[in-house]
Amino acid sequence: MTKREIADVLNEIATLLELKGENPFKIRAYSNGARKLETLEEDLDALIAEGKLADVPGFGKALVEKIETLHADGELGFYENLKASVEPGIVSMLEIPGLGAKKIKILHEKLGVTSIEELQNACDEGRVAELKGFGKKSQDKIAEGIKNREAYSKRHLWWQAREVAEPILEGLLALPEVERASHAGSFRRKREHVGDLDFIVASSDPSPIMDWFVSQDSVKEVTAKGETKASVRFESGLQADLRVVPSKQYCFALHHFTGSKDHNVLMRQRALARGLSLSEWGLKPVDAESFEDSLEAESESDIFNLLDLKFVPPELREGLGEIEAAEASGFPELLEVEQLRGVFHNHTTASDGRATLEEMTQAAQELGWEYWGVADHSKASFQANGLDEDRVLDQIERIEALNASKKFSTYVFTGNECDILPDGSLDLDAEVLMKLDYVVASVHSSFSQSEAEMTERIIKAIENPATTMLGHLSGRLLLRRESYLVDTFKVIDAAIANDVVIELNANPYRLDMDWRYWRKAADKGLLTSINPDAHATEHFAFVEAGVNVARKGWLTEMNVINTRSLSEVKEILARRRPHLAS
Ligand SMILES: [Zn+2]
Ligand SMILES: [Zn+2]
Repeated sequence: MTKREIADVLNEIATLLELKGENPFKIRAYSNGARKLETLEEDLDALIAEGKLADVPGFGKALVEKIETLHADGELGFYENLKASVEPGIVSMLEIPGLGAKKIKILHEKLGVTSIEELQNACDEGRVAELKGFGKKSQDKIAEGIKNREAYSKRHLWWQAREVAEPILEGLLALPEVERASHAGSFRRKREHVGDLDFIVASSDPSPIMDWFVSQDSVKEVTAKGETKASVRFESGLQADLRVVPSKQYCFALHHFTGSKDHNVLMRQRALARGLSLSEWGLKPVDAESFEDSLEAESESDIFNLLDLKFVPPELREGLGEIEAAEASGFPELLEVEQLRGVFHNHTTASDGRATLEEMTQAAQELGWEYWGVADHSKASFQANGLDEDRVLDQIERIEALNASKKFSTYVFTGNECDILPDGSLDLDAEVLMKLDYVVASVHSSFSQSEAEMTERIIKAIENPATTMLGHLSGRLLLRRESYLVDTFKVIDAAIANDVVIELNANPYRLDMDWRYWRKAADKGLLTSINPDAHATEHFAFVEAGVNVARKGWLTEMNVINTRSLSEVKEILARRRPHLAS
């Protein structure tokens, strides 16, 4: 097992112990051990080989033994026994957003609930509200969490769906019978999460294609199989639908099954206005007998052109003004991931990141970026080992020394992801904040404030002269946690008025600010930064998810600060930080 996998097991052990009501010190030993392991700068293989794991401060003898066993065997009797000793229904309650092990244990002990269904009943009967330390408010929250869990469990993040979708498309394209193939549906439109996957294939010989599709190794269940249509389900619950059509129907089927519904309605109306009928089978004169007489389309562009429209990129087919644009001047060149020249919001081992300053710089250099910026947490985020003023000043020195050493061609900006405290002030001294090259201001606490309080709090942070960017505006975690209450339009206006960037947090669970706001906001002059919020070198790749939703928000290179060159970025940041002026 790798460092990361072992840390996951240790965390799970801590949770299971907590569910069992074990000694808090024992629990903490495992969760601290997991954290230590994640942020370990030395190579784990080497430490174990040299028998030096026990020398790492914070690793007791029992923990060292368990880490070594997991590292060598990939399994651990203690962990397996522990898992078996907790009822699965109780473990599954951990999936309810906002419900932790401590509360689950009380609910189990006092109310005897052993499954989510029983907990739901207890909420319906008002028994949770009567428990000491719970009350009506937490009962409503738990009931809400159960409801969200059901809705969430039917959907899958685009980022995770891609891991399933890409090999399927590659496999289809490699079959000799396949003439053309593509994914369709919300996955092709790059929605932040998808209900299922759709594939459209052109072929005159569907049978071997159907056979291949339903017999893929990763398929858990075949839910339907006909001559030209099949549906399968994968381990994660994700379902994939395949449709094989004759070559001349391909573009029409691809367009139809890409959607969205709203977009298709507008397209059909437009066709009707021209005496034509548009469907998945083709585009024919309304009075023609069948789609045998369809007009021809070699590509989706042809379909749009037949209706006097310019090609609409799939990401924009949401029925949100794309037809009007395709009628007139067409579309701007949407943002491409290759246009990014660096990134700003990233963590290192100084706070809760898993890679060191040097490792992150090396990774940024390998991506060909001209610059990247550190934005570790500030001290109020103590659970993430946030930095106080002295540690920030130390970090600035280390970064300046690294830049001066010219060890890497990628330049490192000094920054901080500074907590916006409940009253809207920033978590670090103004003087220290101004020594940094930039500040990402983010809310990480007091999520239950009223909309008015939260909006005022965030706007106060935007008005702070130290703030360069606003981090993850809504605080949502897709399919896990709803956003807090905030007036997004007021926040956008305040950011524009104060020359503050609103980030597009590219973590696949965040994608925040939501794509639905960007087109109007950018028209008003708002700038964004595609920020991976990387906590490890591989998280730099999240920028692709950010670019997806930037495209859905109609953004171009011009709207995005991290498409600028190093010298241009320095010039922009120097408006707030004179020390960056050349
Ligand atoms: Zn954050
Ligand atoms: Zn962050």
